[in-house]
Amino acid sequence: MILDEINPSCDATAMSTLAPALAATRQAAVLIVDDAPAHLGALRSMMLEQGYQTFVANTGERALEIARRALPDLILLDIVLPGMDGMEVCRRLKAHPATSNIPVIFMSARTATDDIVAGFDIGAADYIAKPLRLAEVCARVRVQLQFHRSALSQQQQNERLRLIVNSMDEGLMMIEANGRIQYANPACDRYLGYAQGELAGRSIHDLLAPSVAQEYLAYFGPGAGPATPAWRGAREVLIRQRDGILRAMDLTLTPMGTEQPMFIALLHDITHHKQSENALQRAALIDPLTKIANRRHFDAFLENEWQRAIRSSQPLSLIVLDVDHFKGYNDSLGHVAGDACLQQVAMALQSHALRATDLAARFGGEEFVLLFGETGHDAACAIGEAVRAHIESLNIPNPRSTTSPWLTASLGISTIVPTQLDDIKEFFVSADRAMYAAKEAGRNGMRAVQTGATLELIQAALQP
Ligand code: GH3
Ligand code: MG
Ligand code: MG
Repeated sequence: MILDEINPSCDATAMSTLAPALAATRQAAVLIVDDAPAHLGALRSMMLEQGYQTFVANTGERALEIARRALPDLILLDIVLPGMDGMEVCRRLKAHPATSNIPVIFMSARTATDDIVAGFDIGAADYIAKPLRLAEVCARVRVQLQFHRSALSQQQQNERLRLIVNSMDEGLMMIEANGRIQYANPACDRYLGYAQGELAGRSIHDLLAPSVAQEYLAYFGPGAGPATPAWRGAREVLIRQRDGILRAMDLTLTPMGTEQPMFIALLHDITHHKQSENALQRAALIDPLTKIANRRHFDAFLENEWQRAIRSSQPLSLIVLDVDHFKGYNDSLGHVAGDACLQQVAMALQSHALRATDLAARFGGEEFVLLFGETGHDAACAIGEAVRAHIESLNIPNPRSTTSPWLTASLGISTIVPTQLDDIKEFFVSADRAMYAAKEAGRNGMRAVQTGATLELIQAALQP
């Protein structure tokens, strides 16, 4: 009956030129709401022709029911309807979470500005004046569907990104050029002990040591950027947790391709890695049998103390100690007893090297070394004698020893005030030689020497 209201300008040619453009929007479902059966029929045929799935309703109540059940991609909604009018239908659609995002296109003969504005105000996506021109309806439907689809895919993409960022094990922060944290993901909050959202608004100064934070800001500053060498790739930093405890993390900065200079900071917790690294480092410095320092540790320690003694002109004393007749001990009592015996000796030696500048170490086999920083000849001799007596007093029987019923040791002591002219190896050899001299002299004893270029000069000067 109202077919004549439909503008005949939408002829077959116009329709066919629209068809290919709509290929991308096929399968979209359109709900057509109109109380005029002729309108419904014409619009439905046209939508079907465009490849859309269609639903029709001739009242507002029915339209709401179908919309909630079928969740169409778009609704063409007549305003004047018996009972609930189109405006009210639209209001209810927008008020319901399930249907609020469905684009609604009003169709109405009311084309006063107020009517159109009212339509948009309650959430319509578009407003088409009646009499309808089918080509125009097609174009407007197509545009809205495309718009709606890209909004949906944008929303889905955002959701996906949010899910990734929220479930990441790595901490992620978005940081502004002035160091203000704009966003931190849950892993970041977890790592640093903050409640959700608590990090946002804080500065990186709250997290990094001042010098590192300053470097960081320089990275953001004018003229700097991703090419700034110090910040390329990941770097290890100490980050302060909320409770003040520092935590080792790998920090990777990536500039975001936005107009505002913004950076993404990725935080990877390396505390466990660090702990095992430290444990490994410690293990590498300890003798597995006796649990005192090993030769490697001793070498590094000696080098350090040697340089320190050169700078301070303080004496340095070294004891080289070798267990006497230990082969016989092993042969008579077994290797296991031999091991236990070495452990006892090590503990005894350790008890004489208590200052930070002292070190007792197992040099290898049944040979031990003790280094004493800031210790002169007399003090070293006193310590040497105490060590010798201590080992003897352990009263470990050594049946095969030809020099004592007990386990004993021979000690060589060397003292030096090292200078740049001295050789650290020579220093060690002098103590070792002294130890062999003590062996030659009958074992369970010690020999002490003083050595070094300064001493030689003094002795030469004193020569008649
Ligand atoms: P001297 O008084 O001249 O030093 O005689 P010695 O028997 O102590 O010297 P020698 O160098 O002939 O023998 C050292 C022995 O120490 C031989 C070796 O079996 C023993 N030894 C070295 N390392 C270990 C160890 O880790 N465990 C045990 N049980 N024995 C060891
Ligand atoms: Mg030996
Ligand atoms: Mg020996």
